[in-house]
Amino acid sequence: MSQHFLLSRPAKTLSLASVFRMSDTEAEAMFRKVRWPETDGAPVCSHCGGLNAYECRRPNGLLRFRCRACREDFTITSGTLFAFHKLPLRGYLAATAIFCNEVKGKSALAISRDLGLSYKAAFVLLHKLREAMAEEMKGRKLGGEGTVAEIDGGYFGGYVKPANHVENRRDRRLACNQTGKRKAVVIIRERNGRSLPAVFRTEGQALSFIRARIAKGTIINADEGSSWDALHATYEMKRVNHEEAYSLNGACTNWAEEFFSRMRRAEQGHHHHIAGPYLLRYAQEASWREDHRRVSNGDQAHMVSGLAMKRGPSVDFCGYWQRQSLIH
Ligand SMILES: [Zn+2]
Repeated sequence: MSQHFLLSRPAKTLSLASVFRMSDTEAEAMFRKVRWPETDGAPVCSHCGGLNAYECRRPNGLLRFRCRACREDFTITSGTLFAFHKLPLRGYLAATAIFCNEVKGKSALAISRDLGLSYKAAFVLLHKLREAMAEEMKGRKLGGEGTVAEIDGGYFGGYVKPANHVENRRDRRLACNQTGKRKAVVIIRERNGRSLPAVFRTEGQALSFIRARIAKGTIINADEGSSWDALHATYEMKRVNHEEAYSLNGACTNWAEEFFSRMRRAEQGHHHHIAGPYLLRYAQEASWREDHRRVSNGDQAHMVSGLAMKRGPSVDFCGYWQRQSLIH
């Protein structure tokens, strides 16, 4: 039997130990190259785009640059997802390494313990890493002539605890006995290719998303769910009834199921509760991890930090701390 990829040497190129052995200068040099690849790490002003900046460290030693053109100050993380954070650079690198090393996901509580952060800071940091992963999926279209894609849906959130006494229990399948928080994650996954998740109230609401994101000429595999019947008019469809078999006459949704398997394990093993406004981010994380499951952990961490540096300040958490302080 061949060795599993994750156990092989090429899969392990970055360890947390090596991150902590790095000096501050080494961490800075690495981040500079990730942030400014086009100038090989030479600073580019985040205000005016000028290339003429000099080092002007803060009194506490933190790296800062001053632009000769506009006289403004900026740092390696200015204008990126990591902007306004107070962690040293090695902290981001360690967080990214830990996040990538956990193949199913990482709970905010665990990373707050690992790095000595508050729970809220860890929660926001991990969601920013998910936002970075999502950056890669922006505008993604899948399929095309001669390719095969699979679609499937799974429900998350809105758990209703059954009452203690049998006589008080209600039928939780009925809409009137649900919380309304239950949502469907729908995945499109090209075989041997990329994936793309989205969140809807029901599977049936995903049809226009599917038509917009799967190119014409793609052969779509789906299960027996009646929500997908309407797609027969647009695509060549292969259906498999899971009550009969998981794979029948070449039709199966195993690639899509693998995505849900990873997401369920993240839900049950790490997060316990993934629902509400952040559900899409957890789905995007699972999708990214599936797409890059055969990439070494070092390359994964490099990709995630590169995406975080490419993306502007957080959409999800812009003003988050201000809102929090208004509440408390
Ligand atoms: Zn400038």
